[in-house]
Amino acid sequence: MTACAFWNILSLEEIEMPDRQLSWNSNPKWPWPCEEDISKYINVPDWYLVGYEEVRGFLRGLRKGRSDTVGKSAGGRPITAVYYGPAKPRRKLCIASSTHGTEVEGVSSVMNIINVLETGHDLRGRKWPAFGEIARKVGFYLVPFYNPDAAARSMVKSYVGMSFDAINHLHVGFWKNGRTLCRKRVFGPWTKESDVAGKMDYIGYLGQRFNDAGRLINRPCSRRRSMAVETMQMLAYLRKNRIDCYMDLHSHSTAPCLHVCPKERTSGDYEQLLNLLELTREMTKKCGGPDPIPIYGNAKGWRNNHFFPANLGIYAFTYEEKGGWKGCFPERTPFEEIWTANTYNGMYTILGLAQALEFRGHLNY
Ligand SMILES: [Zn+2]
Repeated sequence: MTACAFWNILSLEEIEMPDRQLSWNSNPKWPWPCEEDISKYINVPDWYLVGYEEVRGFLRGLRKGRSDTVGKSAGGRPITAVYYGPAKPRRKLCIASSTHGTEVEGVSSVMNIINVLETGHDLRGRKWPAFGEIARKVGFYLVPFYNPDAAARSMVKSYVGMSFDAINHLHVGFWKNGRTLCRKRVFGPWTKESDVAGKMDYIGYLGQRFNDAGRLINRPCSRRRSMAVETMQMLAYLRKNRIDCYMDLHSHSTAPCLHVCPKERTSGDYEQLLNLLELTREMTKKCGGPDPIPIYGNAKGWRNNHFFPANLGIYAFTYEEKGGWKGCFPERTPFEEIWTANTYNGMYTILGLAQALEFRGHLNY
């Protein structure tokens, strides 16, 4: 008798296989009737590091960056900031991406900067000595996911080539009856009706502008208050760490632009904010980046880039990258070209801002 005779050997047909229906579906389907194959929005190059789980894993492996926690999202997820810079920096800059979950371009910029500051090169292998140089003077607080609930809710990693209808469904979300949420409400100033807290039973997909409590993430309701816990915690974090400048990264269908708040929305020096804006544009162009169009905001509704300077007197900007959905770029532009432009434009603007901030410190403003 051989040893294997102890085993009751079954033929393949006799083995009962677990029910395949119960296995994880790693190729999700659109949550509303949509003809397109979703996989082309999931298969992105490794260097376009924007997926929630992948980024979390990557951050766990950092050697030089110091991970810190801004707070916890409404859904209980950590809001992580990674710090690079000297122990006592002359200027401190906080960059937050993924305020809106579909706007992944900024996550790629932030993650590539993190890799530059870890290794000297970005995730495509390109060297950026200027980042290493400026990070010896300026402290960088890099927050890949301002709104981690939305990022975790994302089904895809790229919106390049996507129809407006599809991105609109994913961005604003839709009710169980299939109708998308009212764009006027979710894009306009905060009102009781623009948040969907209390109406969650009717939501089919929560979209990418809300946290898990159904609160708009970028619409404080007044000078003192945001209904989004993320924003109240960020306010406390910026104050505690004495951050000089905050910039959040978004995307839109226009050429890259830089928004500042209107004069009445800062308790700091508005002239200096405008000077910093101009110097940032200059520095960004000088290092090879775009010329971001300046946009001077109005005081119709509160946004995070109004809320922080109003309460803290700090500088604040919103950078908008040109997203890659259908109609934004010429039809045959290779996806790789758009992902690269989206990543590098943001990196150049962050570099330009850091240099401008340091330069102003140098001039003793
Ligand atoms: Zn946005």
